Amino acid sequence: MTKRLVVATRNVHKVEEIRAILTDYEVCDLSVISDPPIVEETGTTFLANATLKALAISELTDALVLSDDSGLEVDALGGDPGVFSSRYGGEDGNDALNNAKLLRELEEESNRRARFRCVIVLARSGESLADFSGAVEGLILKAAQEGEGGFGYDPLFVPDGHEESFARLGEEVKHTMSHRARALDGVKGWLAENG
Ligand code: IMP
Repeated sequence: MTKRLVVATRNVHKVEEIRAILTDYEVCDLSVISDPPIVEETGTTFLANATLKALAISELTDALVLSDDSGLEVDALGGDPGVFSSRYGGEDGNDALNNAKLLRELEEESNRRARFRCVIVLARSGESLADFSGAVEGLILKAAQEGEGGFGYDPLFVPDGHEESFARLGEEVKHTMSHRARALDGVKGWLAENG
């Protein structure tokens, strides 16, 4: 029987990416939890916020819960937007506003170095079991390169070793090197031993 894993997020793109990588699991979103709470991301680190979300949701189900907190760190902005990535433009989850603000902030800037970072926490019954992290280095473009795939800042981010944005490179390429895929490698190893 396939084991169930609940992803503690409302971001459908994250759930899709995780589902595409953790193929041995029945990866569910929050719709399997009745009346899931909105967990405020009050932490100052990805680990703190991922832990808050994983623990809160794992109190409401017997299934294993996976929570991902992730974001973009831009060197010229002192690591911003970091944990504020999803609300950088002023409205939570508004990718267009976020990307527009990032382009504005970097308008005069020649240092375009940045990285995506992801921290994943696994929890069950209100207890944190393990955490994993992953990062991918790259550069921020001067104008968006839209494509078929990706979400968030993907149209503005070119991973090192490539010339096109994550949005244009597509899901298959993104899954070989993304911050989330790298953190999920650790998850896969842990699940193989403990899952
Ligand atoms: P979270 O849901 O609080 O972890 O916020 C994550 C935010 O970081 C997203 O809303 C995006 O703005 C950004 N982000 C995280 N991962 C990615 C990615 O793979 N591509 C593009 N943007 C991402």
